[in-house]
Amino acid sequence: MILRAKSEALFAEALDYIPGGVNSPVRAFRAVGGKPFFVNKAKGCRVWDVDGNDYIDYVGTWGPAILGHAHPKIIAAVKTAADHGTSFGIPNPFEVTMAKLICSLVPSVAKVRMTNSGTEACMSAIRLARGFTKRDKIIKFDGCYHGHGDSLLVKAGSGALTFGNPDSAGVPADFAKHTIVLPFNETEPVKAAFAANKNEIACIIVEPVPGNAGLYLPKPGYLEFLRKITQENGALLIFDEVMTGFRLAPGGAQERFGITPDISTFGKIIGGGLPVGAFGGRADIMDHLAPLGPVYQAGTLSGNPLAMAAGIANMQELVGRNVLIAPRRAEDCPPYRRLELLGARLEAGMKDAAKSAGVPVTFNRCGSMFCGYFTGEPVWNLADAMKSDRERFKKFFHGMLDAGVYLAPSQFEAGFISTAHSEADLEWTLKAAAGVMKTF
Ligand SMILES: *Cc1c(COP(=O)(O)O)cnc(C)c1O
Repeated sequence: MILRAKSEALFAEALDYIPGGVNSPVRAFRAVGGKPFFVNKAKGCRVWDVDGNDYIDYVGTWGPAILGHAHPKIIAAVKTAADHGTSFGIPNPFEVTMAKLICSLVPSVAKVRMTNSGTEACMSAIRLARGFTKRDKIIKFDGCYHGHGDSLLVKAGSGALTFGNPDSAGVPADFAKHTIVLPFNETEPVKAAFAANKNEIACIIVEPVPGNAGLYLPKPGYLEFLRKITQENGALLIFDEVMTGFRLAPGGAQERFGITPDISTFGKIIGGGLPVGAFGGRADIMDHLAPLGPVYQAGTLSGNPLAMAAGIANMQELVGRNVLIAPRRAEDCPPYRRLELLGARLEAGMKDAAKSAGVPVTFNRCGSMFCGYFTGEPVWNLADAMKSDRERFKKFFHGMLDAGVYLAPSQFEAGFISTAHSEADLEWTLKAAAGVMKTF
């Protein structure tokens, strides 16, 4: 039994001053029971709680820590930038480097604008799509999360699911009615929605590899289908790559699956652990943004020098420093090759562990993102994900935590491997998993 007395005291205090004691709901451990631990140090693939316990971390600050925590290059970049001032409110050179990096790594992005979060990026991308097409309705998929903007907080995956409350209070029905929510990986409902709303749908927004209801992959041909049907109907295709961008490949899921969306949103990795988001796409669309066009979007701290410096360091470590001269693909970059290798090892090991314990598990993986569902049936969308035995997940989560392995505290979250995870870390994790599953 691991003692977490200091964490418990801090949480008790936090509850008095912060709603639910947390600044983002999934951190509260409501889905798994128990209390969150407080972390005051992270390095490589490990986090340390305030009681001095350490854990092998598969949350990776929910995605950004693809190189592991406190990577020396990122820390040095932030320190150097901070010495020159934390914010200027006027253009800084980092912004140009960042924009060139994103545009050269993601071919569908000709121009890009920075925001302070993935939420802002998705909100702004939707506004832009509406302004560009002069249409109001949007299509999203149930279980996909695109941040907590009003029109997007409808059937929105993990956080909302965890609390058994798919739609948020406070979103006027007048806003939500413009959002059409459909099941992922199914074609007929999408065709029907376009047929029933001729010339009214501005865009489809989709996580190309949905990672906010656990993790499931697009069926072969599904993203191609979304590309084609949007094109045929004068609607835009928005890939929300806040999680998958620079994670699945330098060019994100769109590189991996060979699809060209009209607009893409980013976040997480491009901030190297500082608060960042971005949205970009075709130049003719992006030029509808103020000050060139009629779609307003702004941010006091957008393009912040510390965040840009951290993100640039993160991405340059992934793809090399010469990216502006020679765009790189995943197979050219040692970190992505390693992530694939580690991912395959974890997948094989978890499947073995489940099999030998006789526990039905569907283990989904794409590169360094993964999710094990406690169900024997394949998981292709939210309805499938909901079949997972969540009581088992609770036991599994706490068993793993007691063995020093930190997984996301909800069945409906993806896990992340970083380049800082070693083979030995994976073996420890697999041994722990086998041990926990044998007690079921
Ligand atoms: C995390 C996430 C967001 C929201 O980003 P924040 O920075 O948390 O606002 C949006 N879309 C996807 C796919 C995400 O995973």
